[in-house]
Amino acid sequence: MTARPAYKRILLKLSGEAAMGDQGFGIDPETVARVAQEVAGVRAGGHEVCLVIGGGNIFRGVAGAAKGMDRATADYMGMLATIMNALAMQDALESRGVDTRVQSAIPMAAVCEPYIRRRAVRHLEKGRVVIFAAGTGSPYFTTDTGAALRAAEMRCDALLKGTSVDGVYDSDPKTNPAARRYDRIGYDRVLNDDLKVMDSAAVALCRDNGIPIIVFNIREAGNLARVLRGEGIATVVGA
Ligand code: UDP
Repeated sequence: MTARPAYKRILLKLSGEAAMGDQGFGIDPETVARVAQEVAGVRAGGHEVCLVIGGGNIFRGVAGAAKGMDRATADYMGMLATIMNALAMQDALESRGVDTRVQSAIPMAAVCEPYIRRRAVRHLEKGRVVIFAAGTGSPYFTTDTGAALRAAEMRCDALLKGTSVDGVYDSDPKTNPAARRYDRIGYDRVLNDDLKVMDSAAVALCRDNGIPIIVFNIREAGNLARVLRGEGIATVVGA
């Protein structure tokens, strides 16, 4: 495994499923606690941490639209779902003594801060974990794109995409046992071959801003810290 450079400021993107556990829907506090433990570990290790959590464990706009809902309305519901996940993660982090702020792209003054870029930077400098909720604040986008956008705005050194597989494969490793994992791969290869890393808008945004995307398995305990030390198994998407 080739050594990876030290990434000081990172953005960790998790899909809503990372909060779900085995019950197939919603938020499982034990699962959230496990992920929070990982985040607390890397925060204590000196990394500045931004977090984006999806909402697919609660609601996806596309699914709502497929059942006849107005797409934009369904997407707004999806964005609201991400705020619930963000609050669950904030709770889990703060119960571990990690100062955390939630900033939402859809202002919701009674529960969290609105997204203010300069304020978020300040939080990071003070060692707080910042969770960006409600994606981009606009329908027809995903939280992957929201994550890439915030990573660019926060000038993150890397975007870490925590998933249930240990990297990017040339075909689906869950159905093809002969699938091969890449150690490194280019943004354009990911886009041209339509490899399922993140949606194409997110990958293009990372490419245009020179942000490496590190795909790794978040379900293995201690993996986030290992990957940041350059030790764990992962795929780095770069130039
Ligand atoms: N969403 C949106 N705009 C955004 C981010 C999210 O409309 O900028 C909506 C969209 O409906 C999406 C839902 O929020 O399906 C949940 O986000 P996502 O599907 O990205 O969650 P994940 O798959 O990561 O759990």
